[in-house]
Amino acid sequence: MLDRYEPVIGLEIHAELLTHSKMFCGCRVVDSVEAAPNTAVCPVCLGMPGMLPVINRRAVEFAMRVALALNCEIQNHNIFARKNYFYPDLPKGYQISQYELPIGRHGWLDIALSDGTTKRIGIRRVHMEEDTGKLTHRDEGSLVDYNRSGVPLLEIVTEPDIRSGEEARAYATRIRQTLRYLGVNSGDMEKGVLRIEPNISIRPRGSEAFGTRIELKNLNSFRALADGTDFELDRQAAVLDGGGKVIQETRGWHDTRRETFSQRAKEEAEDYRYFAEPDLPPLFIDPAWIQTMRATLPELPQAKEARYRIDFGLSPVEATALADDRAVAEWFDAAIGAGGKPKSLANWILNDLFRLLNERGLTISDVPLAPAALVELQSLVDRGTINLTTAREVLAEMLESGRDPTTIIEAGGLGQISDEAALIAIVDQVITDNPGPLTNYLGGKESLLGWFVGQVMRATRGQANPALVNEIARRRLEEKRDTAGS
Ligand code: ADP
Ligand code: ZN
Ligand code: MG
Repeated sequence: MLDRYEPVIGLEIHAELLTHSKMFCGCRVVDSVEAAPNTAVCPVCLGMPGMLPVINRRAVEFAMRVALALNCEIQNHNIFARKNYFYPDLPKGYQISQYELPIGRHGWLDIALSDGTTKRIGIRRVHMEEDTGKLTHRDEGSLVDYNRSGVPLLEIVTEPDIRSGEEARAYATRIRQTLRYLGVNSGDMEKGVLRIEPNISIRPRGSEAFGTRIELKNLNSFRALADGTDFELDRQAAVLDGGGKVIQETRGWHDTRRETFSQRAKEEAEDYRYFAEPDLPPLFIDPAWIQTMRATLPELPQAKEARYRIDFGLSPVEATALADDRAVAEWFDAAIGAGGKPKSLANWILNDLFRLLNERGLTISDVPLAPAALVELQSLVDRGTINLTTAREVLAEMLESGRDPTTIIEAGGLGQISDEAALIAIVDQVITDNPGPLTNYLGGKESLLGWFVGQVMRATRGQANPALVNEIARRRLEEKRDTAGS
């Protein structure tokens, strides 16, 4: 289909904010899976008559952080609006949202594509609203849990700039990572705290006008986003090829059948009768507040990746892997600050450390491993105190006990033997014990030097400094030649 039609996609992402309390009341924000239903509720979030909402300052700050990270202009004059509709998950009969004046507008986010290029996706708006309750449908009837009702929710809407399922996935992944970097959302899609809805249409290649779009709901993973988008693009192409018309509707994604299905046509769409929320005053955000928020933004993933590539000479794959999770990236930065060499540290972290953590089902924040301790381990290898094999064992021990490498090496007698007198004694012993190979060596079979070195390494259980053993063995064997020749 891609030869004839061009996909046009815009994404709406809903993200719950990790504040302690809800958007308009003092109720706690609780884990939707763990908390017992309807235990974090009050008259405000249950929509009782006469209740009055109060804006959560921290939710506004989180929204600002996201909007700033997405390069949006921040609206100084914010109005909340009532979005009216009747559904049992919405106890008030309306949702408080932002309509004409969202907190953030005209932003953008750069995404990295698999061919190595970067693409800029326009962000149309970022606005604040409140989440609804959660419905569970059973044979006997439906259950509703209002713990989620009133949880601060952010909606992030793109321009229709996305052109493939891959781009949609890259964008959504970057949004999730950015929200986690900002500490405003856990990114747990299976818990529903991050919900992605693509709007999808196609148009004949070369055509300027957009085709009719559908909106895809119920996507609970990045894979569902990519697969659902691809399915929908093919379906629409088949409709147009058959001489039909795409109808504007909301479609769902069937995760087991892996296909989309019609949920609600546009004609059935509600009229939300938006109007300014009379119970809330306008929210004025002064420039100084915006400045403070901007100043507290962390270094964002794109900036970290670029710094790792340009300043440290890491490959794009290494840079992306290290910047993926903020805790890992900051751990890596701290190790560099402690004098670590970037390329070798990246290897240690991405290969050895990640393998050890994966085997134990742990993250970097779970282990008592100080960044400076890994740098010390790295320099012990560089200085020849221990070899790589020993270093890997020492690292595992460091994860368990949090002890520093030097202590572990001394306690375990793991240090590489670089004491010349000790090594000479061992070399001499090996030569004395092996008169046959010695005769052959002296007879001209000089490749036997490697064999002697191997015997010494065995005798020291691999702890001898190989370069030094090599040098000593050659010297002692040549001295035998001199003695034999005289
Ligand atoms: P609504 O509130 O009705 O969903 P919006 O204007 O907020 O409408 O747009 C929702 C999303 O749909 C935005 O991301 C926008 O970029 C995208 N969009 C708009 N028109 C199209 C289209 N023809 N094809 C695909 N996406 C579109
Ligand atoms: Zn409440
Ligand atoms: Mg929509």
